[in-house]
Amino acid sequence: MKKNTKEQLVTEIAELRQQLTTQKQVKADYDLLTGLPTRTLLYDRLMLSLLQANREGRIMAVLFLCVENLKIINDIYGQHAGDLLLKAISELLGKCLRKGDTIARPGRNEFIIMLPEIKRRDDAIMIAEKTLTALNEPFLIGNHELFINTNIGISLYPDDGRDAEVLIKNSYTAMLHAKEEGRNNFKFFSGAMNDRALEQMIIENSLRMAIKRKEFVLYYHPQIDLMTGRIIGTEALLRWYRPESGLVFPLDFIPAAEENGLIIPIGEWALYTACAQQKEWQAAGFAPERVAVNLSARQFYGRNFIEMVSRVLNETGLDPASLELELTESINFQDDGQTVKTLNKLKDIGILISIDDFGTGYSSLNYLKQFPAYKVKLVRSFVSSIPENPVDSAIAKLIIDLSHVLKMKVIAEGVETTEQLELLRSIDCDEAQGYFFCKPLHTSDLTNLLTKKEDSYHDMIYKPASWHEPGILNRRFEEVL
Ligand code: C2E
Ligand code: CA
Repeated sequence: MKKNTKEQLVTEIAELRQQLTTQKQVKADYDLLTGLPTRTLLYDRLMLSLLQANREGRIMAVLFLCVENLKIINDIYGQHAGDLLLKAISELLGKCLRKGDTIARPGRNEFIIMLPEIKRRDDAIMIAEKTLTALNEPFLIGNHELFINTNIGISLYPDDGRDAEVLIKNSYTAMLHAKEEGRNNFKFFSGAMNDRALEQMIIENSLRMAIKRKEFVLYYHPQIDLMTGRIIGTEALLRWYRPESGLVFPLDFIPAAEENGLIIPIGEWALYTACAQQKEWQAAGFAPERVAVNLSARQFYGRNFIEMVSRVLNETGLDPASLELELTESINFQDDGQTVKTLNKLKDIGILISIDDFGTGYSSLNYLKQFPAYKVKLVRSFVSSIPENPVDSAIAKLIIDLSHVLKMKVIAEGVETTEQLELLRSIDCDEAQGYFFCKPLHTSDLTNLLTKKEDSYHDMIYKPASWHEPGILNRRFEEVL
């Protein structure tokens, strides 16, 4: 009897163990919320289907679907509503597909659809279109009608990959490209996408190395007061000194740094370095009034941005009034109330704000009065078309007059000729910056320039009357350096 009980117990434990293993397997294979297969089961099924497709010489498609705005929906309507929405989406997807197709949910806002029985590429298009159309309708969740944004990336077997992992990865890459082109899009994978992804990975790696190896430098571009001829400020411009290829200009690496987020540490370095340099010039007694630093939207909208700026000012000991932050209009136009709040916080700290590249596509005069800027920077492309283009000259005058009414200064960027300078002075532009005076300078060159105030260079730069002599300033700057 005793033995029997013991045997029974052993059997029960074995059964329980088996049950638990099966439950665990079910848990790993199926998503608890939607009941759809997880990535693990999808891989198994995909591998089996690939074997079959290979044997039968068929093609297959993998669709990667991402619900872009799930996080916002969760934030606004709560996690429960988000869960109900995901369930509703998975049910709807089920209705769009055929029996042999598999839908899986590998991530919170992601679905992967496997189409093992398509005959041609167009079949995948048809299903992607049908799915997007169905998902375009609002979902009734509680009392709310919720709209979702989805994008689909498609990879095909055997053209885009022969194993499950590559096909899923390539459908994901294609989805990212669909997303770049807007909402509710689908896109097929192409080899060029991987070339780009590889290129981006290489840039990202080398930027990370550049940060570690301290390969960034700042150049400073003088800003000249058009009344006095004095250098009243400088704009700090980032350069990347790559030991293997020399100086790299910002337009060749900043867009990538913005995309991968590395602009945050790089931008903080630039801000710190510019503030420390300005403080050093001040301590030496020959500093221009302020230093201007460019900001990208990613920094401005990033977490702890204000804290970062305050910390840099604290650590370098720079007076906030000696710092100007240049914001492009694209920053300010993403308006949601937050932008003006952040701008006002910067202003409260005592930092000066200027609107960079004013006069580009986004420009709106109405916009000038909404933002607490102290200065407007007339965009270079605009300055380059004056005085030949009378309409642009008239618009420049209008911007200057309006800015003055709003108590803002105007600086013209990219001034290259005497004619431009003359016209700008005649329409009361306050300041100018550009190759007419000099190119952006290395710290030591600018220090050199600032300390030469007393010699012949000083006579010329401080006498705007001599500016009508073509190219003289540029020549003289070069002579001095
Ligand atoms: P930006 O803010 O419009 O800067 C002015 C650009 O025009 C600089 O190019 C400058 O060298 C160039 N420039 C100035 N005067 C003239 C001129 O008379 N003729 C010509 N042809 N060009 C002139 P750079 O240094 O290559 O900078 C390009 C852009 O990179 C900047 O445009 C700015 O948007 C961005 N950038 C530079 N440094 C930083 C930085 O530290 N952080 C961020 N986020 N962006 C930066
Ligand atoms: Ca700028």
